[in-house]
Amino acid sequence: MRDVYPSFYHQFKCIANLCEDSCCKDWDIDIDSATEQFYRSVQGELGDKMRQKLKTDEYDEWIFPVENGRCPFWNRDMLCDIFIGIGEEHLSETCAGFPRVKIDYEEFSEHLLSFACPEAARFMLRTDNAYADFGGEEEMQAAENSDGYMSFLLKARSRTAEILLDRELPFAYRLADCLEFNAQVQSVLNGEEPQPLSFENAETDGCDFLFDMHLRFEIMSGRWKQALSDTQKQLAALKIRDGFAQDFEKFALYYVYRYYLEAVNSGDVLYSVKRIVCAFIVTGLLDALFEKEGYPLPRMRILQRYSKEVEHSYENTEMLNAEFDRDSRFSVENLIALLETMV
Ligand code: SF4
Repeated sequence: MRDVYPSFYHQFKCIANLCEDSCCKDWDIDIDSATEQFYRSVQGELGDKMRQKLKTDEYDEWIFPVENGRCPFWNRDMLCDIFIGIGEEHLSETCAGFPRVKIDYEEFSEHLLSFACPEAARFMLRTDNAYADFGGEEEMQAAENSDGYMSFLLKARSRTAEILLDRELPFAYRLADCLEFNAQVQSVLNGEEPQPLSFENAETDGCDFLFDMHLRFEIMSGRWKQALSDTQKQLAALKIRDGFAQDFEKFALYYVYRYYLEAVNSGDVLYSVKRIVCAFIVTGLLDALFEKEGYPLPRMRILQRYSKEVEHSYENTEMLNAEFDRDSRFSVENLIALLETMV
């Protein structure tokens, strides 16, 4: 089976205690069942602590629940006691693999690094053309040999990425074009004749509702919640900066390559594109606030934190998709009208 990687994938190395965020912070740690069994056999103080900390979550999966915002094995030197005590080979699959993500499709596998890792985010932000191998000839051939649906989605994904990279246009217009293109793709997937969009009833009542929704999410960091709330209070005075698109473009591409092909199962290409639109408006306005107020946080951290708070949360992503289905303010026409006010 063909495996596809972004260009920087094999250069990535975890920077451990030099990391400004860390995957040992904020999240419960998933423990696969083979690792759980092994941890039950470890002798001594470390083994006792492992057995004491192992719990099951609401899905009946084994985890080490986060304690005061930290993995219970992340020590004061910001190093892992399990790594030090019994070796890297005994880390759980999640700990050993993060931020590497492998997505298996029937015809091929795609590998990415998660934007929730600051070091991986830096690689993505400084690399152009990182996904040149994605949707290439071999992947396309494999898709065509097995399934017309997948090859159709691969072509639509490539076109979506091309639209996002059209640097002749302001980024908000590129997103509007992506929505329009994918509305047509969605019609084809639904077995309908694609129709031109009608803006007669499009409403643009500002983006307050996006901040309301993001503040209703499960939020791990109090500072993130505060930043969202501060931004919402100043929406009238904020404008997404021109330079923001240079960085957001990389986040958007990552997102397309990570999520667009979910449509193989969901039958919906608009979910992933609408989530990018929400991310653009919320992070773009946070960036504008940080600039205005002189917050000492690089833009990378805004995008990385969004990935950690929203993209990586199953519950928050499901809430977004449900709102897209339920709330007409997320219709393609309304989002395009909203994006046009962002330029
Ligand atoms: S977030 Fe990335 S760089 Fe930071 S500790 Fe985890 S894998 Fe390492």
